[in-house]
Amino acid sequence: MNKLISNLILITAFLTFNFGYSWGTTGHRIVAEIAENHLSGHAKRQLKKIIGGQKLAYWANWPDYIKADTTGVWKPTEKWHYVNINPQPNRKTFTDSLIAQSGPNLYTQIKTLSAQIKDKNTSKKDKEIALRFLIHLVGDLAQPLHVGRAEDLGGNTIKLKFFGDNTNLHSLWDSKLVDSQKYSFSEYARVLDVKSKEENRQIQSGSLEDWFFDSHQMANRIYSQTAAGTSYSYDYNYKFQPLLERQLLYGGLRLAKILNEVL
Ligand SMILES: [Zn+2]
Repeated sequence: MNKLISNLILITAFLTFNFGYSWGTTGHRIVAEIAENHLSGHAKRQLKKIIGGQKLAYWANWPDYIKADTTGVWKPTEKWHYVNINPQPNRKTFTDSLIAQSGPNLYTQIKTLSAQIKDKNTSKKDKEIALRFLIHLVGDLAQPLHVGRAEDLGGNTIKLKFFGDNTNLHSLWDSKLVDSQKYSFSEYARVLDVKSKEENRQIQSGSLEDWFFDSHQMANRIYSQTAAGTSYSYDYNYKFQPLLERQLLYGGLRLAKILNEVL
């Protein structure tokens, strides 16, 4: 009986741990590392003053780690990591729906935190916390299923198998697909961050709303090409590796753009 209970506790802990996590540690570090490569001199100096000498990759997962805090102070921030939107026919209805979402979410928080960092009256301590979140949340924005559908909790309820392991669509995109490439975060950042200045400028163009719409469209592509209950392996990797890598690169370049602007 005791063994049964301890197994149940273990399973519950495992499920809780996996639910709603984002990009996994590797994905967030790749995004942060690519961003680091494209910071302006001014942004680098400001970052050093506010968050210290660590690289962006060091802080990239902090907003996920604090979900384990038991005091409850960070509890409200759990809703900052995603925004679920039902499929929209075009950019206009998508943006209307994005703006109409109630309560703090990924979209409202990227805007709020950016404004806090820009504001001369924000204390250094508050700026530091805002930066730690921003580094992470712009990474979440690049994970399409963080701008997924409400009905399946951003793919969390779509169960499938990946290389024989039980998982779900959200978790597959958060971590399993990235980790199956077997690169360290710095290796992966290095092999992805190879585009020309002009191409990078193109990727960094557009508004925050454009970037949300971009992720949402990619989520719809993933939904339409992934079937619940399927056992995937190399076939899924073959189909989606290019999109995965696009999202990691775009996330990094766009994070750099935001940091260069707000700092
Ligand atoms: Zn997250």
